[in-house]
Amino acid sequence: MLLGKQGAGKGTQASRLAEHYGIHHLATGDLLRDAAAAGTSLGLEAKSFMDQGSLVPDEIVDGVVDEQLRTDARITGGFVLDGYPRNRHQAQRLDDTLGDARLDLAVDLDVPTEVVLHRIAGRRVCTKCSSVYHLDNPPEHDWICDVCGGSVEQRDDDTADAVMRRLELYEMETLPVIQYYRRAGILAHVDGGAETDEVFKHLVELVESSFDPGSTAR
Ligand code: AMP
Repeated sequence: MLLGKQGAGKGTQASRLAEHYGIHHLATGDLLRDAAAAGTSLGLEAKSFMDQGSLVPDEIVDGVVDEQLRTDARITGGFVLDGYPRNRHQAQRLDDTLGDARLDLAVDLDVPTEVVLHRIAGRRVCTKCSSVYHLDNPPEHDWICDVCGGSVEQRDDDTADAVMRRLELYEMETLPVIQYYRRAGILAHVDGGAETDEVFKHLVELVESSFDPGSTAR
């Protein structure tokens, strides 16, 4: 599980980790955006919260996550969680849902607020496959995704007001989740302010050492 502020690099790193280990990337933000783009009533309800930078109500997000965890065969080989849980209720509920299939590792991707503000202001995302770009690091051809050919655009919730709201909510709601996993003994920190490749290297080292039974790396 990757935890961290908006713009900490959770999506980019979770997607790389999932590819590296051949496991599923479960990102609640992506699932909610897909539902909104498909125009389902649940998706449209979620979008009104997302566009303001508010958290989507637990009963909607829990339903989306439960469905994936209970019915999606891709999670059986393991998964990387990105964007969930975002409050203590969700953390508790996730434990209940997983039962004996406990989480192995929760990583706090630590990035200073001024860095995430710069990242989010210039962030552009593929509307089809969610690959992340930046004004400083655009796709090769005129905002067409290098990976899937989709259109690369600014997210509707990457406005200045919505970003400030999300950062406030992070302090109030999501910091306690970090504490929750510290108490559970599965929390680790990685400096998310470094270059993308460097952060990825640290994450892989951490995963490898955490799954080595002889290790005390956590
Ligand atoms: P993200 O792509 O993770 O930045 O999520 C985008 C938006 O989706 C958030 O600002 C929330 O509005 C909503 N969202 C994603 N995950 C959750 C969650 N676990 N709980 C509540 N809202 C969420």
